[in-house]
Amino acid sequence: MTRATKIVATLGPATSDPEVLERLLRAGVDVVRLNFSHGSAQDHIARATLVRELAARVGKPVALMADLQGPKIRVGKFVGGKVMLEPGQPFVLDAQRTEPGDAGAVGLDYKELPRDVRPGDTLLLNDGLIVLVVSAVRGEQVHTTVKIGGELSNNKGINKAGGGLTAPALTAKDMEDIKTAVSFQCEYLAVSFPKSATDMEMARQLANVAGESLRHKPAMIAKIERSEAIPQLEAILRASDGIMVARGDLAVEVGNAAVPALQKRMIRLAREMDKVVITATQMMESMIQAPVPTRAEVSDVANAVLDGTDAVMLSAETAAGRYPVETVEQMHLIALEAERAEEVQLDGDFVNKQFGRIDQSIAMGALFTAHHLGCKAIIALTESGSTALWMSRHNIKVPIYGLTTKAQSERRMALYRNVRPILMPYYTDRDQALQAAEKLLCDRGVLMPGDTYAITCGEPMGYPGGTNMLKVCRVG
Ligand code: PGA
Ligand code: MN
Repeated sequence: MTRATKIVATLGPATSDPEVLERLLRAGVDVVRLNFSHGSAQDHIARATLVRELAARVGKPVALMADLQGPKIRVGKFVGGKVMLEPGQPFVLDAQRTEPGDAGAVGLDYKELPRDVRPGDTLLLNDGLIVLVVSAVRGEQVHTTVKIGGELSNNKGINKAGGGLTAPALTAKDMEDIKTAVSFQCEYLAVSFPKSATDMEMARQLANVAGESLRHKPAMIAKIERSEAIPQLEAILRASDGIMVARGDLAVEVGNAAVPALQKRMIRLAREMDKVVITATQMMESMIQAPVPTRAEVSDVANAVLDGTDAVMLSAETAAGRYPVETVEQMHLIALEAERAEEVQLDGDFVNKQFGRIDQSIAMGALFTAHHLGCKAIIALTESGSTALWMSRHNIKVPIYGLTTKAQSERRMALYRNVRPILMPYYTDRDQALQAAEKLLCDRGVLMPGDTYAITCGEPMGYPGGTNMLKVCRVG
């Protein structure tokens, strides 16, 4: 049985070995995430090249997602690398301090902090493990009292409860990294900490300019991880091709308890707006150290699948964990089982869906027909992949095969839920293309004599957005 929900895996030291990486792909990874918070441009280029090679060897489309670091708001370094903070003690965050920090004060990578906070504000360090309350701001120094203590080490992140840090979403480093990511034609470009649609538009423009000579335009993913992004969700979605429910930073800003409901809302909204959505962070966290997940993690992955996410993401589990391959294997099984329990009904929204485009209406027609006729497959002959995307925004048990002549589109579709992308040769003649598509799926064992399927295409062939035909066939 094939899994409909896709798996995104982050690469790192645990998956640098080509042999491990190949096993990771074989275990079911559909999208590889290159995290630009770590490593040099050369590292990422080498990794991207390796992923392309191994994907070809394994014989499956794998998309690359470059994830920009964004404005990491961090403390500086400490003498000895770390300090222990005790509850009740004073601690100063000092934007002017250049010498390494100690138990009383530390420097800041983010120099704007003194202007972004006021007495009474809560600052969360190291993903919320350490909590400081601002008592005073004196010049470049933020004076705080430790509320929840613990070990604080070099360059840990700072969040402000409720949001309100003014750092722009795109740093100078991000702008350089965009060029690197576009040079290896990443299918997806993830932007960290966007606050508005404008942040996404700006990132897209930079990416498109960088990709001009290669005629490459990556799909843009907005990581929703700031308080300010929540009221802007619709506008951000409109300006993006998809979102990531970036639960790590988001939980720190909006509070842990608010995240599950936000996840459901984000997934629903993304699908309604024909965008993709990735659910990320700590999904299988305990497997960084252990060969099996916790019951809670199993439920978390299954619930994201039931919420309708396109993909579930692994971060440190595959980047730095002890069991990267096992983690993917487990995630695969959990997703598969959750999908089997899913309702088969076409969702109610389907009937009321608003659209005015011919290609979209054909896509919906194919879904309706395939669902009610109990087709074995829906085949979308698609240049850009959009027909397959529209179809995949609705719950349907019938698998969608996205057949394209463009390798870029094939890899991009690897993220779409319930879409199985396949590369096919180009035919100018429509009937030849239809026959070739049927043969492809018969050869793969998907279709057998007597099976019905729905197939969509455009005539004339080969124009993106040109889908205008639906045919329902029985294999002879
Ligand atoms: P990160 O983003 O791993 O780059 O921080 C994901 C998250 O914040 O959840
Ligand atoms: Mn984050």
